[in-house]
Amino acid sequence: ETKIEGIASSIRVVPHFPKPGIMFQDITTLLLNPKAFKNTIDLFVERYSSMDISVVAGVEARGFIFGPSIALAIGAKFIPLRKPRKLPGEVISERYVLEYGTDCLEMHVGAVQPGERALVVDDLIATGGTLCAAMNLLERAGAEVVECACVIELPELKGRERLNGKPLFVLVESH
Ligand code: 5GP
Repeated sequence: ETKIEGIASSIRVVPHFPKPGIMFQDITTLLLNPKAFKNTIDLFVERYSSMDISVVAGVEARGFIFGPSIALAIGAKFIPLRKPRKLPGEVISERYVLEYGTDCLEMHVGAVQPGERALVVDDLIATGGTLCAAMNLLERAGAEVVECACVIELPELKGRERLNGKPLFVLVESH
């Protein structure tokens, strides 16, 4: 079994969560498998340790599970991108469109300096709206987004096409 196969088989699919018709990709079962969890982090670290990345930004909430371990291993800082009204300091906000309504991500002003090379991490890309908002926050602060990284991609939703040509690296595709 390859590392990728071990990771893919540790992700549980929960039908009709959080609502009817959704096949939810549950990464909590990946976290219960220390070997697969470590392989997940290691594959990202292998890719990013020589890309001169100084900041890893993780998207609330599941980007917080993977991002910090990657940041520590490659010697980068970690920035949490949070839902509204969670961060105590001055923030910039980026609103984005969901299937029903809108959502918003915020980042602390001063967390990243102009010209810094950034990696954006989340667990999963569906429509790409979340990663697009995350990239916009970093770019508004003057950072250079080198790449986005996710454990899982749902390729049918074509989220990749919403990333304005930025590279996206994923470990597992779910069809
Ligand atoms: P997007 O903005 O690309 O449509 O949705 C991606 C965001 O929604 C990510 O932050 C991700 O955590 C969450 N998300 C959407 N669907 C799933 C799913 O099936 N499993 C998990 N773990 N997260 C999901």
